[in-house]
Amino acid sequence: MARILVVDDLPDNVTLLTFDLEDRGYEVVGVYSGREAIEAATEQPPDAVLLDIMMPGMSGIEVCHRFKDDPRLASIPIILVTAKGQDQDIIDGLDAGADDYVPKPFNSRVLIARLETALRTKQAQDALRQANDQLAESNRQLDEKSKRLAELNEAAYQFVDNVSHEVRTPLSVIKEFASIIDDGLAGEVNPEQKEYLGIISASVDDLALMVRDMLDISKLEAGHLTVHRTSCAVDDVVHHVRTAIERKAATRHIDLAFDLPDDLPAAYADAPKVGRVLVNLAINAIKYAGENGQVKIWARADHEAGEIELGVTDNGAGIDPGRLEIIFERFQQVGVNARATTQGVGLGLNIAKELVTLNLGQMRVQSERGKGSTFSFTLPMAEPARLVDRYLDRPELARHGLAEVSLARAEIQEDCPHAAAREMDELLSDVLRSSDLVLWVAPRTWLLLLERSGPESQAVVKRIEECRQEANRNRPDGKLPPIAVSCVGTWDMATQRNVLANQLHETLRSIEAVHA
Ligand code: ADP
Repeated sequence: MARILVVDDLPDNVTLLTFDLEDRGYEVVGVYSGREAIEAATEQPPDAVLLDIMMPGMSGIEVCHRFKDDPRLASIPIILVTAKGQDQDIIDGLDAGADDYVPKPFNSRVLIARLETALRTKQAQDALRQANDQLAESNRQLDEKSKRLAELNEAAYQFVDNVSHEVRTPLSVIKEFASIIDDGLAGEVNPEQKEYLGIISASVDDLALMVRDMLDISKLEAGHLTVHRTSCAVDDVVHHVRTAIERKAATRHIDLAFDLPDDLPAAYADAPKVGRVLVNLAINAIKYAGENGQVKIWARADHEAGEIELGVTDNGAGIDPGRLEIIFERFQQVGVNARATTQGVGLGLNIAKELVTLNLGQMRVQSERGKGSTFSFTLPMAEPARLVDRYLDRPELARHGLAEVSLARAEIQEDCPHAAAREMDELLSDVLRSSDLVLWVAPRTWLLLLERSGPESQAVVKRIEECRQEANRNRPDGKLPPIAVSCVGTWDMATQRNVLANQLHETLRSIEAVHA
């Protein structure tokens, strides 16, 4: 039952109102002066106040002010009861915070209807305020949780980083001494011993790979995995990892073949990470190819799509179609037998897919039970105009909701040596996140596409300069040259994707024209 405070210096008015209101089921507290009204409300705040304006001593206007100045009373609705012709009082009362007014002589039904409206409004406001408070509290808790999660991720990363360092050091010692023995430096080695040494070495490689996969996963989670995409020859990438793959194939007696066309165009990718992907896929193919296994590593250019596809095909047992999706999830291994005969923790494909995505590519798999599997991935060709479109159309960008992309342009002086430009390119990649794109568009010029708001990209500009100065503190000679970075603008991807794309294409054409 709502409590109504009725304030009027004329006892008859109070009695009349009390009578009508109690009749409607309200509880009424009647008082005869402003001062009493404040005392009664302070003692027990009512749900609404019916307030006469013209009273000796403290006027209704003054009572309104007192209510609105007291946080405990401020939200209580006040309805002024005014005499005819007191327009200025009405204005002053509403100014002082009253919610409504009823002129005298009042009709009780009208007054009660207005009172009920005021009470409903107050109820709705209270509910809204409560909902807002709850929302603010949930947001605060969420903030706290994500902060805690970020701390945990960071702690997990530090732990994995330390452990992997501790594990990798003895692993490289084992590998080195196995190699010394294998080379005959510690005495003659018979063919059987040589074979065993090969197994030791390949197992060490497996373990090292696994440790690196784990480290990369935790780096990804903690947001520490940077990506350094540059124009690179696919041949070189394959060449770098070829020996390790060949050694592994030899220990498993797998027939390994490479099929790479001579005229492959350059890719725009992080070469070591592409190498990692290829090793992971090749090691799997070798592991799962089985007796008389054949594994082929191949590449082809798709000029229409502007991409290069790199693949690994084996003639092993294949994978059930229903499981092709889940094998890319972490810690997913298909079949108990696989687990018994191979070492692995189910991270290889997951990290391979993540690394491919970082390289703006796509992972593909085709497999048929009993016939074998083909795992392949695409890499963008090093063509800035197409790269830009690819970056703007990444599915991840759409997934991040109302994403904004900012564009910045970075330049070093024309007379800077190429080596300095290369180091600058690395520094830019280190400072930016993997969701940003560093495009080295001319010998001394970069375009930076940042998946960030305007203010965030200004912070990036500052960070680049800080990192350059920090790097230079550790370089007594051959300092990194000054770099001028300017923010061009920020575009909302939901509505302005094409505006940005056009601007980028225009900029690229003008840079190309200058350097033609
Ligand atoms: P791991 O090899 O450590 O188990 P991966 O993430 O590399 O983990 O692979 C996940 C699962 O996918 C493997 O357990 C295996 O069942 C399946 N798989 C991967 N590559 C092949 C392949 N070439 N042929 C058959 N199965 C494969």
